Amino acid sequence: MPDRRRRLPSVDSLLRSDPGRRASERSGRAVVRRAIRSVLDDARAASRRGREPPDEEALLARAVALAARMSSGLTPVINATGVILHTNLGRAPLPEPAVRAVERAARGYTDLEVDRESGTRGRRTSRAEFLLEALTGAEAALVLNNNAAALLLAMAALARRRDVVVSRGELIEIGGEFRLPEIMRASGAKLVEVGTTNRTRLTDYRAAMTERTGLILKVHPSNYRVVGFAESPPVSSLAALARRAAVPLLYDTGSGLLEPVRPVPGEEPAANHALADGADLVCFSGDKLLGGPQAGVVLGRADLIARLRRHPIARAVRVDKMTVAALETVLAMHAQARRDELPVWRSLTERPTALRARARQLVGSIPGASVAAGESVAGGGSVPGYGIPSTVIRLPEERPERLATRLRVGSPPVFCRVEDGAVLFDLRTVEAEDDERLARAIRYAREEV
Ligand SMILES: *Cc1c(COP(=O)(O)O)cnc(C)c1O
Repeated sequence: MPDRRRRLPSVDSLLRSDPGRRASERSGRAVVRRAIRSVLDDARAASRRGREPPDEEALLARAVALAARMSSGLTPVINATGVILHTNLGRAPLPEPAVRAVERAARGYTDLEVDRESGTRGRRTSRAEFLLEALTGAEAALVLNNNAAALLLAMAALARRRDVVVSRGELIEIGGEFRLPEIMRASGAKLVEVGTTNRTRLTDYRAAMTERTGLILKVHPSNYRVVGFAESPPVSSLAALARRAAVPLLYDTGSGLLEPVRPVPGEEPAANHALADGADLVCFSGDKLLGGPQAGVVLGRADLIARLRRHPIARAVRVDKMTVAALETVLAMHAQARRDELPVWRSLTERPTALRARARQLVGSIPGASVAAGESVAGGGSVPGYGIPSTVIRLPEERPERLATRLRVGSPPVFCRVEDGAVLFDLRTVEAEDDERLARAIRYAREEV
């Protein structure tokens, strides 16, 4: 093995080659050097596993491609997966007015943190918080970087060195390294698990409450659903228990649904109901069903929100001005009864018949493709376990995974689903104006296969 590894060229010799120099002019020498190092590391690892390392030309091609990819920034993709809130594809797309607000905030100076009348310092999130209070009836609101930050802050500010009582059925893990027990440990709070995975009763909570209890936490199991023999006490009972013990109840509702609304199933918790049912604090994400930018929102009792606001972690997880701009705009749209203009809600409510018409139009130009019934999902920790009837384009393929890969690396990149020996394209998550580009991308990718 060592002799093979020795055959690998040096970083400098690759950097000095013609392709290396040309790439350096485009992306910068430091970036190409970094890419070469990475490619050589991979080749070394492969040769340790007994594989012949690629020749110099192939190594260079990989490094040049890597440097180009790393310098070109985020690439827009077509999401034909049918997963509306796709965390890996950036969750909620923003509505046009929010995009314009972000652009204005990014380009010049704004009155981000200043009260224009008095000229005194203001708070950057005061407008968004005002709108959230108006929309949900909450006494107070707080906007942070994301929901994980909201949980971290709430537990640090309210339950450091104290117990946080949580049902075993709600100790969730969400894609992207979000594990509730780890966040709790980082906050300095101690986790006290009660009940079992499928059943937790009010008496389980009551038995776990001591003078060390700092917080009762209820978490919406947002990416799975316990069906069948399952039980958990309603928020109102937990709230009554919390009140008697003079301990706050924090409800992590996850998705940011502000009020119950069709077609979202009634099991998805809405912020206004959670508050009305007696939760002292409610927290959720800005970029799920709320349809806005990445953010975390905490709503509820003014005295508790004030404690959160004063904690040093609040400053460490504050939002940037572009988030402020986008969130304010999206909240104003909710307030103006313009929820249906938000891309997430347009996708959620698009009728299967409308999707079928588009799919029929497209399959004519994709040989071998047919229109089939399918199911989209809300995704991203919202409305788990429920499919949304949809229409898909189905393309049987001998090697569907290979076509899916070609589509991902194509231009425009396309993300689809692979099921039962076929590639599926769900138009629910595709902008109608992208239909033609999608069909073209599929045709190209197939010609190459
Ligand atoms: C998505 C989700 C989180 C994590 O929210 P981020 O905004 O991604 O940090 C936490 N709790 C629940 C219940 C969620 O659904």
